[in-house]
Amino acid sequence: MIEYAVGIDLGTSYSCVSVWHNDRAEIIANDYGYRITPSYVAFTNSEILIGDAAKNQISLNPHNTVFDICRLIGRSFHNLEAQSVMKYWPFTVIEKNEKPYIRVTYKGEKKDFTPEEIVSMLLVKMKETAEYYLGGEVRNVVITVPTYFNISQYQAIKDAGLIADLDIIRIVNSPTTAAITYGLNTKTNKERNVLVFDLGGGTCSVSILTIDDEIFEVKAVAGNNHLGGEDFDDRLINHFVQEFRKKFNKDLTSDKRALCRLRNNCEYAKRSLSASISVNIEIDCLLDYIDFYISLTRGEFEELNQDLFQSAMKPIEKVLRDAKIEKYQVHEICLVGGSSRIPKIQKMISNYFNGKELKLINPDEASARGAAVQAAILSSDTFEKVRNILLLDVTSLSLGIETSGSVITPIIKRNTKLPSKKAEIFKIFAKNLFSFTESLYIDTNPENKSSVLIQVYEGERSKIGNNKLLGKFELTISSVPQIEVTFKLDLNYILKVSAVDKSMGKSHKKKIIITIGLSKEEIKFMVAEAKKYRAEKEKIVQKMQARNDFESYTYILCNLVRCVDNMDKVYDAIQESITWFNNNEEAEKDEYEHKQKLLKEIVSPIMKKLNITDETLLFDVLAI
Ligand code: ADP
Ligand code: MG
Repeated sequence: MIEYAVGIDLGTSYSCVSVWHNDRAEIIANDYGYRITPSYVAFTNSEILIGDAAKNQISLNPHNTVFDICRLIGRSFHNLEAQSVMKYWPFTVIEKNEKPYIRVTYKGEKKDFTPEEIVSMLLVKMKETAEYYLGGEVRNVVITVPTYFNISQYQAIKDAGLIADLDIIRIVNSPTTAAITYGLNTKTNKERNVLVFDLGGGTCSVSILTIDDEIFEVKAVAGNNHLGGEDFDDRLINHFVQEFRKKFNKDLTSDKRALCRLRNNCEYAKRSLSASISVNIEIDCLLDYIDFYISLTRGEFEELNQDLFQSAMKPIEKVLRDAKIEKYQVHEICLVGGSSRIPKIQKMISNYFNGKELKLINPDEASARGAAVQAAILSSDTFEKVRNILLLDVTSLSLGIETSGSVITPIIKRNTKLPSKKAEIFKIFAKNLFSFTESLYIDTNPENKSSVLIQVYEGERSKIGNNKLLGKFELTISSVPQIEVTFKLDLNYILKVSAVDKSMGKSHKKKIIITIGLSKEEIKFMVAEAKKYRAEKEKIVQKMQARNDFESYTYILCNLVRCVDNMDKVYDAIQESITWFNNNEEAEKDEYEHKQKLLKEIVSPIMKKLNITDETLLFDVLAI
């Protein structure tokens, strides 16, 4: 079987899959014929639904329909951002060992899933969408994520890939891959600075690149992983909950189903307001048989979200500052992500760049197409048109160690080119705290003066409390220590840290690879579970196939016997079959097949008498 490499844009709200095919990046439509798939997973009494099927049934099954999972992946349960999004979700998140788990009822039983498992289900759906279209196997994928993902989030995505039985060959920031699409579509020989602004469902990501023919050099990235279309929806929901309370003195938040219906209508209203200046919302029987009819203008929508829109400008300022590029030096500004369609956002960006024209490439598909280009380049060197494209990427967050006074000293600073290897020399903190200004000091261990604790952190704050501890290890030191700490970060965000007291020699060197994802055992268990769910799904597909075969066979016969006399026995058998499958929606594959066999046995003597072998021929005979 032919193997294909694809690009998957894994979004908070929608995911999209693309493949490099016939010299271009093609978007692959899903089984509903849609080019983007909602990032939704639902658990029902009989099966797991993913994508459109899951989103379509949310108001009937709000507690077991999971969405927005990219806002949770790689975060601890108590993380403030995770906590603040959870309160709007109709499904339950519980804590186990500080990690969040999604609790659902599946086939009548309580089940807990890690965010990695839910994401793996989304990845499998995208993989299957591609496989169905390509008729081959998909193993290698490039995945795009928001720019501000940290190392634990990258690791969590890699773990999700393992559970989905996929090889994630690279994880790239979504605006960066969108820039590849843009660059390829607008080829010129001139070097240009391109700013890509990606405002999606839950995140706002910005990249600035210098594109020089086939070289895409990322200068800086910035973002806000807590800002996107869903937040604008939440503002509308809050507004209407208050209006409802004022008008009817009733609390909509008490009813999850009503909230879900309101959410869908708010999203629809928001989208409509990108095209028209006012919208009517009409929801029949929203709560206690009350019909909720209300209108909303574009101005009101903008007013409700003003501060959020304003904060979407901040990553733009930051990325320019970090890249040391002035506004006027930006040659092109490119918008992607569904929420970049909001007119006010477009106006604010254009104003910020003194009225500059904005380039709108397909906001839903650009990132996936760029990821497909990367997947093609990394998996084969036979694709003439993209073979020479070179993407030079950067890290989005600083990595460093704790030094004296509980501050972080960065070793690999944010926006450093990847891969990166950096070393720094440290001394041991002497009694006098004020001598600290001269060089970098590490505290000795309080219990053991002949060793130091190297603590590795990620983050931009100078105090440790606000950053994430990635790992730590102890290093033996001499009486006159001179400690060299080396960080090595590869293209796949694997961080290796080593430390050595130079006065003691290399043999005392200590090394760790930072591992912060799931343990090997956990992954093994989840891989087995995922296989079980896939087998169950396969069984359901076969069952539906058997039911469908049986139903159509019965109805064909039914049409036939209407045309002939003396067919009472067959007619009764057909009626019995119809009643049976109407009363047995959830029968097993074998049962459908068995019932079909029984019906065939009744029909076959008649067929024999008429000397025919196939029911469709029976129709021809009867027609004569
Ligand atoms: P993600 O990559 O985070 O999944 P997308 O880029 O697919 O997100 O964008 C999805 C978001 O864009 C949703 O919040 C959706 O409501 C919003 N969106 C899509 N079309 C429009 C539109 N015409 N006007 C306003 N918002 C839109
Ligand atoms: Mg996106």
